[in-house]
Amino acid sequence: MKTEKDKQPLRARRRLLLQALGGGALVGGLALTGSANAKAALSGSTRPRQADSDVLDVAIIGAGLSGLTSARDLQRAGCESFVVLEARERVGGRTYNHELGNGVVSEAGGQWIGPGQTAIADLARQLEVGTFDQYYQGKTVYLAGDARYAEASASGGASVSHDIARKLNEMARSVPGEAPWTAPNAAELDNITLGEWLNQQGVTTEDKIGLNMSTTLTFGAPPASLSLLHYLSIINTSDCSLEQLEGIKDGAQETRFVGGSQILCTKMAEHLGGKLKLSCPVREIVGWDQDVVELHTDQGIIRARQIIAALNPALCNQIRFTPALPSGRAGLQDRWPAHAPMRKTVHVYARPFWRDQGMNGQVVQTQGPIIWSYDNSPPDGSVGIISAFIKPGQLSHNPAEAERVLSDLYARALGEEARHPTQFHDHDWGKVDPWSLTCIHPIPPGFWTQWGEFLRPAAGRLIWSGTETADIWPGAMDGAVRSGHRAAFQALQALTENRRTTG
Ligand SMILES: Cc1cc2nc3c(=O)[nH]c(=O)nc-3n(C[C@H](O)[C@H](O)[C@H](O)COP(=O)(O)OP(=O)(O)OC[C@H]3O[C@@H](n4cnc5c(N)ncnc54)[C@H](O)[C@@H]3O)c2cc1C
Repeated sequence: MKTEKDKQPLRARRRLLLQALGGGALVGGLALTGSANAKAALSGSTRPRQADSDVLDVAIIGAGLSGLTSARDLQRAGCESFVVLEARERVGGRTYNHELGNGVVSEAGGQWIGPGQTAIADLARQLEVGTFDQYYQGKTVYLAGDARYAEASASGGASVSHDIARKLNEMARSVPGEAPWTAPNAAELDNITLGEWLNQQGVTTEDKIGLNMSTTLTFGAPPASLSLLHYLSIINTSDCSLEQLEGIKDGAQETRFVGGSQILCTKMAEHLGGKLKLSCPVREIVGWDQDVVELHTDQGIIRARQIIAALNPALCNQIRFTPALPSGRAGLQDRWPAHAPMRKTVHVYARPFWRDQGMNGQVVQTQGPIIWSYDNSPPDGSVGIISAFIKPGQLSHNPAEAERVLSDLYARALGEEARHPTQFHDHDWGKVDPWSLTCIHPIPPGFWTQWGEFLRPAAGRLIWSGTETADIWPGAMDGAVRSGHRAAFQALQALTENRRTTG
């Protein structure tokens, strides 16, 4: 028997769907909850046709923040015909909690958010995940050879001279974060490294050390390897403020999630049930230029009308495409800079003893394995945790040896108690598995102006997502959430459009 909904002319139902999508999908994703019209329109329009009963509307590749945000938006919009295919046996991608016992975690991957990162902050509120401030009060210790020096900084992070920051902030205004290659002087800015530009400015040795550390942490490479154009584009997305990008207080390292950042992903995954397939890497995508696309996975073939690839371009490059992708996109994937996997260690102590002596747990080493350590204790300080970013190739992968070398350095910097951690963890993203490849994209000179235009445009039924494709905060967790919202919207729009053209 036909329902009232079925009797509505097809054209009117499509109009309802488009109105619902257009009206709700701006900031914060597809805000369609409670929109009965939208849900009715979607459930009617997305019902598989009989001949295509095994064909899904959408297949999402990747269960990181981006892919799971898309899945959540599809569900909230009333679309139930989708699947999320994840290569690992866990969700979260580049967010990953080390469980330390008694509910305490330490984040091995992405962990901080800050001002302007509203998409991820909204998501956390909706999922009822609390936040707390990164501990930074007190002195940072600098180790240079045998010398030790301690100093407090107002914002808690690396500081750069006001003059240099002001110049960079000013230049960043004309470099759009979402498309640096369209900047008026893109060719000129993409022809020079940040390091060369800094040399031209005659920066001080302290500034060089500070910038070397901050770009290695935030951009995955030292100034000598980074395109000035890329550097400025990321400052642009940070409200044209280097201080906001690199700072702790009022900066992008200001806020942490209670329970660790991966909890956002595990919470989103809870609602997916059988729509989430773990240990299911996609190996080949066949017919991306056809109405129905085949995904060849380790668990068989999945067929879908729209594909969201919620992966960085280097990961996409591990998938075989049949037919071959257009040359621009293929070239971008093939050359995507994926040499910044990052390594983080964790020392757990009975309590954050360094705080008693007016230190913030931050250690910067000019030569040696530590790039930067910081206080990663839980909000109540019930145990003390020092996490550190480690320079590639400068610390043994033997756990006992790595723990001892770092404990000795912490003892020099923070006091003798540092010699006796209760736990040690080591996570080298370049070694654990092939499903991240890089934590961030250290874009070299010449890359954006040659390949940038191929980053986002869809290829047939393939929608490119993942933090790298975000308009704001690309590379960050906030960018991942934004790209997930955009991709879900794009998929729903494409489904509607395809149904309109095929009747
Ligand atoms: C050490 C480190 C520190 C960081 N610090 C911060 C920080 O403090 N703040 C911040 O905002 N960001 C930080 N980031 C970056 C942040 O974690 C990422 O931007 C964000 O998590 C990316 O989410 P995503 O969904 O776009 O990609 P990913 O998390 O990479 O998700 C992609 C998913 O796809 C899966 N996959 C890959 N290939 C396939 C395949 N063929 N088939 C199926 N599945 C596949 C992967 O397993 C993964 O789960 C950090 C990252 C690292 C590694």
